[in-house]
Amino acid sequence: MGAGQLARMFCLEVIPFGYEVSVYSPEKNSPAAGAGANEFVSEYEDVTALTDFLKKIDALTFEFENIPEIALSTIENFSERTGLKVNPSPDCIRIAQNRWKEKTSFQKAGIPTVNFYPVFKEEDKRSVPSKVKFPCILKTNTMGYDGKGQVKCKTQEELVSALADLKEFNHIVEEFFPFTDEASVILARFEDGTISHFRPSRNVHKNHILDLTFHPGEFPKSVEENLVAYAKKLAETIDYVGVFGIEFFIKGEEILCNEFAPRPHNSGHFSQDSGTISQFALQMRTLCNLPAPKNIPVKAVTMKNILGEDYKPGSVLWNRALENPYYHLHLYGKTEVRNGRKMGHWNYSGPNPESAFVDWG
Ligand code: AMP
Repeated sequence: MGAGQLARMFCLEVIPFGYEVSVYSPEKNSPAAGAGANEFVSEYEDVTALTDFLKKIDALTFEFENIPEIALSTIENFSERTGLKVNPSPDCIRIAQNRWKEKTSFQKAGIPTVNFYPVFKEEDKRSVPSKVKFPCILKTNTMGYDGKGQVKCKTQEELVSALADLKEFNHIVEEFFPFTDEASVILARFEDGTISHFRPSRNVHKNHILDLTFHPGEFPKSVEENLVAYAKKLAETIDYVGVFGIEFFIKGEEILCNEFAPRPHNSGHFSQDSGTISQFALQMRTLCNLPAPKNIPVKAVTMKNILGEDYKPGSVLWNRALENPYYHLHLYGKTEVRNGRKMGHWNYSGPNPESAFVDWG
């Protein structure tokens, strides 16, 4: 489901294994089609077209989570009727779609989060401002990503006024956590419960969008162990099968979990040039029930995203990087360049991973 860059990078791993990939999305000439996928172009809500697609495939996975409920229940019912393998389960996708369900699932699994309060009804608009600590962030409960749909409120007055402006209820209010580092773990869980994972990475965001990933993150041992333990706990508690990326805030020894994405994650792209196995190959292995790698040796890689404003083929900077065999370019085949749009990324796998993108802007 989906035909963007994550589906494209999945194709690039999977087709050499002899598999055929089909993608379903409303987009024609998608990034995935450019990498060899058969394209099924229809709206997600088109139950007839979606059912025809499901009849033609042997297993289904997802490259993004914001799939309408009608499509998820169509997939779920079809899978129950026919035995079509669907990984991760639609229930896991539903958790990841909804910040309130997601954070509640973290807490059930014993994973710490920021304090959060739902704004689901009129009464919540009155009661939440007196409960929450400031500063806080008002977020859309569903369909939010890369900081979209978020308002930071420093005082009770600001929150009351932001809540009064809401056109619909489906929101949550989160307390702001003054973290010093952000981290993520990419984990794969197989049908038999086997888990493979990478060491945690350290992530740096710019304007709420991921800019840099340093792998491995080089956190204190106790922090690293807790990050991995939380990722495993989530996978086991929600009976997850497939690959996910889970994101954390860190301050000293304190770790809070922010969110997880039920698919390969932008902060896992380093794995394409880590000389071992990529997160997309792990996604294939979990979906096709191939053996799980026992231990993934670590190689330092730094990833830098290329947004529309940084998309500069032929520039002195890009040509200099291309002269250096440690810089690997991954472009997503998007024809329309827009500010803030993810166009591709660089991976650097050479001897100075900390300084690979210093002065790149
Ligand atoms: P999100 O859409 O929840 O991933 O938020 C995007 C980014 O906003 C995060 O990666 C953080 O840098 C920042 N952010 C979101 N929620 C919080 C919070 N509760 N406290 C501090 N920073 C946050």
